[in-house]
Amino acid sequence: MQRALVSVPTPAIIRYKRNEIQTIYDSPLMDLVFRAASVHRLHHDPSKIQLCTLMNIKTGGCTEDCSYCSQSSRYSTPTKASRLVDIEPVLEAARKAKENGSTRFCMGAAWRDLAGRKRGFERILTMVREVRGMGMEVCTTLGMLSPEQARQLKEAGLTAYNHNLDTSREFYPKVITTRSYDDRLGTIEAVRDAGISVCSGGILGLGEADSDRVGLIYEVSNMPEHPESFPVNALVPIEGTPLEKNERVAHHTLLRTIATARIAMPSTIIRLAAGRQTLSEAEQAMCFMAGANAVFTGEQMLTTPCSPWEEDKAMMDRWGLAGMRSFEQSSVATKEGSRLEVVPESPKAESLKAEAT
Ligand code: SF4
Repeated sequence: MQRALVSVPTPAIIRYKRNEIQTIYDSPLMDLVFRAASVHRLHHDPSKIQLCTLMNIKTGGCTEDCSYCSQSSRYSTPTKASRLVDIEPVLEAARKAKENGSTRFCMGAAWRDLAGRKRGFERILTMVREVRGMGMEVCTTLGMLSPEQARQLKEAGLTAYNHNLDTSREFYPKVITTRSYDDRLGTIEAVRDAGISVCSGGILGLGEADSDRVGLIYEVSNMPEHPESFPVNALVPIEGTPLEKNERVAHHTLLRTIATARIAMPSTIIRLAAGRQTLSEAEQAMCFMAGANAVFTGEQMLTTPCSPWEEDKAMMDRWGLAGMRSFEQSSVATKEGSRLEVVPESPKAESLKAEAT
């Protein structure tokens, strides 16, 4: 069925000051969600959700000390370290994701950076090239990047690079000490300068205050360009990490954060990431109403469970939602340039497109 509401051209970016974002965040929740939903409908087709599938291509053994992460070698957790996977299992997983309607495939590696990993990086560049050749959007999260590495990833066809700021600048040192906030911003700058879409968001439930959630949105929304994607993770406390006893973030806090981010970054895709499987269907629907428009779907997040495709498809059907096409977001399509004209689509993707319209 054709929807009456369609995306409209993006107006000039409004930059909110931190106190203005705090005022938005503190407004009565129903008003906040209504305002966010209105902004969402002006900038996106509200019936579309981007379906992404994530694969961990190198698990555990990371030297960093992110206090929420089961992959840090500093903590004794159930996650076991492994080597970088071969190319074929990755392509197999990407094909399966595409057959199931995912249009973005993300690959994550647990390490600080690519220093001393020349052969591994070449393998990853091949993975990017091959997955992109399937007509999917390709994202990687590989730690810190140099401008040259970002350029090579772009040349291989990388669509987006994930590098989260995690939380506010002030709270950040309480969570990670082995790399600075400015190190993170440096990688994000290299990614942006290479013409790759930036995916950068945070984690809720680290022990942060409301002002830290506002600080995160302030930092991200005041980058030279709004990120293409803002993932919102709800901490899944992992046994053995310093945050193992943290309480789950309340749904109303998650909702408030999503709605505020939607207002501060109207064109950005807001990604409901780790922790989604702990939400009820009604709680997820409220998040979509408030402006979330992407999910990870499939078999597994990096180290936590994920909702399977069939469940997500059934849920989306009940709420009148459909999967986004590859490169549907205009800022991504612009960065993709002429590459888009030569990408083949699978018959299943074509039928998903038809369903979506
Ligand atoms: S979040 Fe990434 S960088 Fe931090 S410890 Fe985990 S794998 Fe390493």
